[in-house]
Amino acid sequence: MDGYGHVSIRHPADPQRYLMSRSIAPELVTTADIMEYDLDSNAVDARGRTSYLERFIHGEIYRVRPDVKAVVHNHSPSVIPFGVSTVPLRPLYHMSAFLGGGVPVFDIKAAAGGPTDMLVRNAALGRALAQTLGARPVALMRGHGAVVVGPAIQLTVFRSVYTEMNARLQAQAMALGGPVTYLDDEEARLAGGSVGGTVVRPWELWRKKALSR
Ligand SMILES: [Zn+2]
Repeated sequence: MDGYGHVSIRHPADPQRYLMSRSIAPELVTTADIMEYDLDSNAVDARGRTSYLERFIHGEIYRVRPDVKAVVHNHSPSVIPFGVSTVPLRPLYHMSAFLGGGVPVFDIKAAAGGPTDMLVRNAALGRALAQTLGARPVALMRGHGAVVVGPAIQLTVFRSVYTEMNARLQAQAMALGGPVTYLDDEEARLAGGSVGGTVVRPWELWRKKALSR
């Protein structure tokens, strides 16, 4: 993330609600910026705070994915080429094994039935994005970015970081020329299980760096 993008979690006490900051650059968020939303993405207690235009990404995914407890939406630069070309994003190392099931691409023009400003600014577009995501952890958004989900904030942030990393490395591997060997389905399954269990290690590092700012 840079100045754009947002992170949410499902409300720990009420699965029909989610928590996300007001419209502000992610690195600047403090406790006072956290707002509560229902699954229609209406702010429960706005108190003058403005909401992200694209909050529907979060509400509509929480609605259809009871397993999802956190959502990241980013404009991660290295994934953009994979959303606009015919080259699929595939896992080429163990850290991104979670990409093994395939990474769908959401085309907002097809979903809206014509040109838009590229933003998921209403519930219908959020629903279409959630449908494209299906049961997977990551979907790319053509000409825009990505959405990443998971069963907890830690694993979701981990997936977001390593989706960007895999995209950069895959472009580098392809630029070398010749065929690229990706993780096969069984490698992806095994590696996903092992690496997923170590997520607390980078999480502690990222958390410490974030809190020391
Ligand atoms: Zn966006």
